[in-house]
Amino acid sequence: MRIDLRSDTVTKPTKEMAEAMFMANVGDDVYGDDPAVNELQALTAAYFGMEDGLFFPSGTMANQVAIKNHTQPGDEIICDQTAHIYRYEGGGIAFNSGASVRLLYGERGIFTADDVVANINSDDIHFPPTTLISLENTVNKGGGICWNESQLSAVCQRAHEHGLKTHLDGARLWNALVKTQQNPLQYGKWFDSISVCFSKGLGCPVGSVLVGTTPFINAARRHRKRFGGGMRQAGYLAAACTYALKNNVDRLAEDHKKAHSIELILRELNAVKEVMPVETNIVLFRTESVEMANAYLAELKQHHILAASTGGGWIRFVTHLDITDEMVNQIEKTLKKIFI
Ligand SMILES: *Cc1c(COP(=O)(O)O)cnc(C)c1O
Repeated sequence: MRIDLRSDTVTKPTKEMAEAMFMANVGDDVYGDDPAVNELQALTAAYFGMEDGLFFPSGTMANQVAIKNHTQPGDEIICDQTAHIYRYEGGGIAFNSGASVRLLYGERGIFTADDVVANINSDDIHFPPTTLISLENTVNKGGGICWNESQLSAVCQRAHEHGLKTHLDGARLWNALVKTQQNPLQYGKWFDSISVCFSKGLGCPVGSVLVGTTPFINAARRHRKRFGGGMRQAGYLAAACTYALKNNVDRLAEDHKKAHSIELILRELNAVKEVMPVETNIVLFRTESVEMANAYLAELKQHHILAASTGGGWIRFVTHLDITDEMVNQIEKTLKKIFI
């Protein structure tokens, strides 16, 4: 039994999802003719109370197109130092949009409206114009932590008062919504654009959707084509996402429960120096050193458990659709053996 905790991206379609894909009613989406893509885009937009949506092959492309759309070369974007758009998108902000970045140093990736306002450049020719703020929910590098409503509304409201656009990298927004029971329609009011992933906790092979106003999405469609993301019969992929939206959102609570159960075991183990409080499906814990973390990862691998190192002695487990209760038992047994 191979247990893959490296990421929630490793899931594969179930039989039911594969059937939904096989049965999809498709067309050429570059002509706007793919009914399955159009359905997914409309459903996702409506879910967040947004006007329109656009299907992407990856969350990275959805974020990068959103940034391109919101900024001009030479502008400055504000985000947390942990942000995926800054750390894990290949320097795309500079490469694709020619924008500079002002980093915030929040608590596990969560910052305040005052942090934002203090980092908006004044109207002075020395400074790049600050035009966009981007935040992440859940925060990946913050151990899957969720923003609460007052934090979100304060940051977005103050940003708008200062003329900034607001983007949400919602790769795991589904997890945050299930955990906090927040109303997704509020997100459409707070943010000018939101990207969501279907290829993570929802179990799809591929796919992200960007939502926003109709003019924003029309402009995004142009950029997506330029980025090489105009796909033809993409409805086979979109059908998996629609299936997941209808069937796999509520069950994320099970992934959260499994992550919490692993967290409780880790807290009892001597070799584990620190565990970030688990909120959703990400478990981050620290060992003595980078070398120790690598040694533990190798040992876990010998026990057919795959995990990821995130630097500084930290190890990451992500629970997902393909992790069963039996696997959790096996994980817990193995952890007790290794991390003594
Ligand atoms: C996974 C992820 C993305 C998008 O990643 P892709 O692999 O390009 O789909 C964006 N933001 C966050 C926070 C993520 O975890």
